[in-house]
Amino acid sequence: MSLLVVGSVAFDAIETPFGKVDRTLGGAASYFALAASHFVPVRMVAIVGQDFTDEHRAVFKGRKIDLTGLETAAGRSFFWSGRYSQNMNERTTLATELNVFADFKPALPPGYLDSQHIFLGNIDPGLQRSVLHQVNGRPRIVGLDTMNYWIEGSNEQLRETLKYVDILTINDDETRQLTGEHNLLRASRHVLELGPKILIVKRGEHGALMVHPKFIFSVPAFPLEEVHDPTGAGDTFAGGFMGFLAKAGNMSEQNLRRAMVYGSVLASFTVEQFGVERLAKVTRREINDRAHRFAKLTTFKL
Ligand code: AMP
Repeated sequence: MSLLVVGSVAFDAIETPFGKVDRTLGGAASYFALAASHFVPVRMVAIVGQDFTDEHRAVFKGRKIDLTGLETAAGRSFFWSGRYSQNMNERTTLATELNVFADFKPALPPGYLDSQHIFLGNIDPGLQRSVLHQVNGRPRIVGLDTMNYWIEGSNEQLRETLKYVDILTINDDETRQLTGEHNLLRASRHVLELGPKILIVKRGEHGALMVHPKFIFSVPAFPLEEVHDPTGAGDTFAGGFMGFLAKAGNMSEQNLRRAMVYGSVLASFTVEQFGVERLAKVTRREINDRAHRFAKLTTFKL
């Protein structure tokens, strides 16, 4: 019942109105794995350089995260740097140094080939598909994340990969860009014609919207008094969501709705501190407590 994730493991330099950090552990697969590991064991497929030390590995080893698929190559790890605006709604990318990530060809260790739950993090859509080709048989649940770079530059490859995807997690601009449709709901319906059975539109401080052929479900972002760094919120959401679903074992409407809440709850921890600092320490008890408060926040009678 484990969950395989492929994606970036990085060092991030982040600047927000609350401070800055230099070369902190980041990358989409890092946030995803830390969040998902609260529900199921996680198998990670990623690449790092020789600057990635045992101390960095230890962040994952404290949790149920299998690092057999974390390749170490000669050179430096992927480095990303970004700065947030005063209201933290806008982010400027200052640097993207691919380093060892430039030659990343995901190779699944033999022990991962029976994976049934898979999350294809934001990498080249052709490589995302190559992961699906490697596993034995047809996986039960496949999730995928992507970004404007691939929507623009590798549109055909992405469309081919989307045919094999159950759940697509992208933001509102990406949803519009992928379909050429401005209205978000119409754009979402259009996405469901490209292959995914379910679309999750990540909307930052406005939460997330799930569009399923039979229903729509919306969750807010958990209201917080302290938000210090939004980096990785979307990847954390995806980790909480997919982790819950992998544990539940099926995509019933109730499970999908609950998974949305756990995604939002996990993301709320990530944004409280810089990088993975808060997420790496959160306990199952704190998650459950916030999930109960989330239920109270959104329940009402008509
Ligand atoms: P998010 O805030 O959800 O967009 O995720 C931020 C994380 O994505 C950071 O930790 C970065 O290291 C990582 N990241 C940034 N750009 C890329 C990219 N082009 N490909 C893969 N991961 C990236």
